[in-house]
Amino acid sequence: MFDFTVEELHIQGKKRKEEKYMAENKPQLPDTFWKCSNCGNTIQVEKPPRECPACRQQCQFLNVTCYTPDCGFTGIDQRLK
Ligand SMILES: [Zn+2]
Repeated sequence: MFDFTVEELHIQGKKRKEEKYMAENKPQLPDTFWKCSNCGNTIQVEKPPRECPACRQQCQFLNVTCYTPDCGFTGIDQRLK
């Protein structure tokens, strides 16, 4: 009837706890949307590059990340220009 030994059950329980821990502690690093202030090109990266890949200028990048329903969940705040 019982195929598992006490030790096996213990290991399984520990494994399950570890999996739960892993799931709860998943790194939440959503990519950030950056908009080039020079050409308006939007890129999705963790950190903005030194040089814009579109216009090749060392321009300022504006954080336009948006995760609210106001922006239609596109990830970009269209109100920021
Ligand atoms: Zn640019």
